[in-house]
Amino acid sequence: MDIEDLAARVKAGERRALARAITLVESNRADHRADATRLIDALSGAGREALRIGLSGTPGVGKSTFIEAFGMFLIDQGFKVAVLAVDPSSARSGGSILGDKTRMERLSREQNAFIRPSPSQTQLGGVARRTREAVALCEAAGFDVVLIETVGVGQSETMVAGMADLFLLLIAPAGGDELQGVKRGIMEMADLILVNKADGALLQTAMRTCADYAGALRLLRKRPQDPEGYPSAMTVSAITQDGLVEAWEAMTELADWRRTEGIWSATRAAQARAWFEEDLRQALLARLERDPKIRALVDDLGDQVAAGVTSPTAAAERVLAALDT
Ligand code: GDP
Repeated sequence: MDIEDLAARVKAGERRALARAITLVESNRADHRADATRLIDALSGAGREALRIGLSGTPGVGKSTFIEAFGMFLIDQGFKVAVLAVDPSSARSGGSILGDKTRMERLSREQNAFIRPSPSQTQLGGVARRTREAVALCEAAGFDVVLIETVGVGQSETMVAGMADLFLLLIAPAGGDELQGVKRGIMEMADLILVNKADGALLQTAMRTCADYAGALRLLRKRPQDPEGYPSAMTVSAITQDGLVEAWEAMTELADWRRTEGIWSATRAAQARAWFEEDLRQALLARLERDPKIRALVDDLGDQVAAGVTSPTAAAERVLAALDT
């Protein structure tokens, strides 16, 4: 494969080249991995930076409706928008529930939009690397905003927040008790909580829900990455598009403040370091798994630990000692 040519086409913003490049980084084949690494390297100096926005919410909250409306809004403002989906559960269902492009019918027809469904994956570590590389490719292709969508299943949120500049949590209007349903850890990751469906018969409930979340956010520990008034909660309607302007204003205000304070680049640097270490951990574990001698030793020691003959700590030390010989 002519990687230089592919890199040049991605840089020129060719959507078909971008799609091919993402397929390449999603592949597990060793030769594809080598090509993918060369491609990412060739593009790393592109010097382009997108606003990476992570977006999470449980199924039915209105993510695809919101992304369609918000994406169209951004395109009307002259931005190029890429949408990537992360769906770790798709491995179980055998196909991607987030993959259906008809969910964002108008956006998918836009020249300045790029929508990439979630690859079906087996393990979160693999999903993380692929998504990160896909984000980098979209960035190199000149997209101004990269939306990374995920369903609310805990681990995947942490992963998406770890590769985004801003993290949005989409919530549906509901009674007060629902507040407890959102895990504290996910609340703590959110920069903006958007209570969707603030329209028609749901408007009053949405406003009440929003006030509840605003109250809950004020109780959270102050984070160094926030100016006064953040994280905040606001109402939106993906259907009437009410609140989209305000939500975008809040996102840009927050992003600008973090840029000025040096928090933006420090966060990206810390994220890059964390991903390097995570990649290394994964690679080391994979190497251990592949080594038949070590594999046999681990199985044997596992039996001994299970039988109470050896302690877990002693067993782990014996594996490490075997690595050194
Ligand atoms: P997702 O599963 O989070 O992607 O949710 P969808 O975007 O598929 O939306 C789930 C349902 O909520 C659909 O029936 C949408 O029409 C509806 N919905 C989404 N956004 C809004 C909104 O702003 N207002 C109202 N009233 N309904 C909405």
